[in-house]
Amino acid sequence: MDVLIAGAGPAGLALAIDLARRGIGVRIVDKATEFFRGSRGDGLQPRTLEVFDDLGVIDAVLAAGREIPAFRVHLDGEYVMERRMGERREPAPDVPYPNGWVLGQSQTEGILRDRLAEFGVRVELGAELTGFTQDGAGVTAELSTGETVRADYLVGADGGRSFVRKALGIEFEGGTDESVKMLLGDVEADLDPEFGYWFARAADPGSGVMMSPLPGIGLFQFGAPLGEADAEPTAETLQSILDGLNAGVRLGELAWSTVWRPNVRLAKRFREGRVVPDRRRGARPPADRWAGAEHERAGRLQPGLEAGRRLTRAAGQLRNRAARGGRAGAGDLLGAAAQAPGRRRAGPRTRCGHPAARHQLPGVGRAGPRCGGPGTGRAGPRRQWREGPPVRPVPRPARHEAALRRRRTGRAAHLCGAAPGGGGGGAVRR
Ligand SMILES: Cc1cc2nc3c(=O)[nH]c(=O)nc-3n(C[C@H](O)[C@H](O)[C@H](O)COP(=O)(O)OP(=O)(O)OC[C@H]3O[C@@H](n4cnc5c(N)ncnc54)[C@H](O)[C@@H]3O)c2cc1C
Repeated sequence: MDVLIAGAGPAGLALAIDLARRGIGVRIVDKATEFFRGSRGDGLQPRTLEVFDDLGVIDAVLAAGREIPAFRVHLDGEYVMERRMGERREPAPDVPYPNGWVLGQSQTEGILRDRLAEFGVRVELGAELTGFTQDGAGVTAELSTGETVRADYLVGADGGRSFVRKALGIEFEGGTDESVKMLLGDVEADLDPEFGYWFARAADPGSGVMMSPLPGIGLFQFGAPLGEADAEPTAETLQSILDGLNAGVRLGELAWSTVWRPNVRLAKRFREGRVVPDRRRGARPPADRWAGAEHERAGRLQPGLEAGRRLTRAAGQLRNRAARGGRAGAGDLLGAAAQAPGRRRAGPRTRCGHPAARHQLPGVGRAGPRCGGPGTGRAGPRRQWREGPPVRPVPRPARHEAALRRRRTGRAAHLCGAAPGGGGGGAVRR
């Protein structure tokens, strides 16, 4: 087998799809005994949507999700205004999906798993990577099932507490801010799912409870500041916080909840021989969405997806070279995979012929021409990304425009009716 992936979150799944579709033998194992059901990363960034387009899942993601809603701001229990995170922007050749999209992470992962299954690969649950050794020819991995797996490469897509990274002794630089705690999760609420909500005190409007509707499951993702206090991640805790803000919201069942702390770290090395560890984590509270900081948050699902893409781009080159009769070694594959952002060589070019990196990288893009699309000669919007390797910009085909239009029209009809999925209690507009 060519590649063993430990971890079937979005990063592991994206990598598995990209490898499998290139005919590279892949197995993907996860220690969990069932698939996670919480919404977690529900804010999909424009860059992530481009990657999803390339992976062949964009139609499913657009069909299942929704655009970022307007947020209704309540201070001391009074409705005061409606806010959007930003103006809706029009697609351009170099930014085919300029607006964020909302879809619960568990649903996104389900879509990725379905796509992976099209290549005959399924996630193997209840199979924890418990140990590994490597030599010049490959990696020998031990699974909790008792199986020993021999693979050319091992990828640890195993999350922030990466077993693979720890086993390699790779430092995880950065820190966790223990002084900032938030209660996060998914809950039923008697709110209109057409809107997001912000409940706060008039004296401190920047610190409040965010409730964001999750498409298709009749729940709201919430984020509530806990300060320094210890609190149980329960519906009662959230209800008492909301009551303290005179929000007038009645909560129903809590589907998932956690206490979140800001955790921004980066693995010191991205590769050790034939093993690629999970490499970085950066997170901001969902409340940032209300503050309009969505572009700052692009480094979440994106780094995992991009790590996968670097590996598979290199894997594709390896295959092509092999097909042409050339010889490629481990370094060819993993060298590119482990390349840190900013240290890469020239990336692929856009349709207009400009290196994609010029549109994407701070500093580099500054001097670069704006891309208005082939032959138009018109200036287009400049890319906003702060980090991330170049990816071939995918001009959105007409069918995606049509799907998006259908989705918007369909949603408008749907929002006149009951809550998505039929749950969430009565639809009460506040
Ligand atoms: C409350 C919350 C809100 C968030 N909001 C957003 C958002 O709006 N947008 C966004 O982009 N991101 C968001 N994120 C971050 C996002 O959830 C993560 O970045 C994402 O899950 C990382 O994906 P991953 O595949 O790298 O790791 P994970 O999703 O953590 O997956 C790792 C997998 O590895 C498995 N595993 C671990 N150890 C082993 C082992 N030894 N053997 C086998 N399997 C193993 C685990 O079971 C798990 O399934 C949010 C996160 C949280 C908690």
